[in-house]
Amino acid sequence: MAARFAKIPVVRTVRALRKKVDGWRLAGESVALVPTMGALHEGHLSLVRLAQKKCDHVVVSIFVNPTQFGVGEDFGSYPRSEETDREKLAPLKADVIYAPTVSEMYGEAPSTNVHVAGVSDGLCGASRPDHFDGVATVVSKLLLQVNPHIAIFGEKDFQQLLVIKQLTRDLNIPVKILGEAIVREKDGLALSSRNAYLSAREREIAPKLQQVMKQAAAALKSGRQVKAVIASAAKKLEKAGFRIDYLEVRHSETLVPVIGKVKPPARLFAAVYLRKTRLIDNLKI
Ligand code: AMP
Repeated sequence: MAARFAKIPVVRTVRALRKKVDGWRLAGESVALVPTMGALHEGHLSLVRLAQKKCDHVVVSIFVNPTQFGVGEDFGSYPRSEETDREKLAPLKADVIYAPTVSEMYGEAPSTNVHVAGVSDGLCGASRPDHFDGVATVVSKLLLQVNPHIAIFGEKDFQQLLVIKQLTRDLNIPVKILGEAIVREKDGLALSSRNAYLSAREREIAPKLQQVMKQAAAALKSGRQVKAVIASAAKKLEKAGFRIDYLEVRHSETLVPVIGKVKPPARLFAAVYLRKTRLIDNLKI
């Protein structure tokens, strides 16, 4: 018979959450936060496992943050599955799920916005204008609400990881930010809650993104010029059925565009559409 695991408790208020975390901290125990928007998959669970290795207690937040979705984006249809998420977390024995309502998170009339200049510009920041302000504001709030020793984010959202590292430095938030490698399907597609939007045919096409990116990264590593490699990769992606939002080589820490030949540390970043579904991926060169 399959082992039964107790469900993880859910708290919905800052007050209840702080009571738990304050108790742990008073006992001298360490706390890790894994922020998510739910619809959990192996990518999220890998962050939780790392959190457990690093700290005595793990808080997983589940909050579909309205302010990081643009007009016409998928805030309304974003998958919400709290009960299934609780079941997925049960065997991992995370300590608590923090799942605030929108009004608990934002209160009556919020008028503070966190904007991280520089790393928020370009890539996803260019195509989703207010996205990173929404992310930076909600993550600042989560860090102040939870008060963890460490917080863990996936390299799947590499630009987001850099935005968060920058804001914690700039605002002196006493937390260590860790990044964890991208978890992929066997065929190379990066796990994402949005993969559920793909039709069977689109799901067949989707892994070609990673295949083309790998070929491009190899060509760039061998010393070929960025412009030529990107043009050839873009052609392949379009032929496979993707609409390209961006395909760019950037410095891995500053996100400054790389031109000419690649000098490490650099990464290849892509955002593409299959019909309405937007997929993002990135690869170290
Ligand atoms: P999300 O629920 O999409 O906001 O993601 C929550 C966290 O999980 C973010 O730090 C993501 O970067 C991370 N994440 C999402 N997909 C993956 C993946 N395939 N591998 C590793 N981390 C991921």
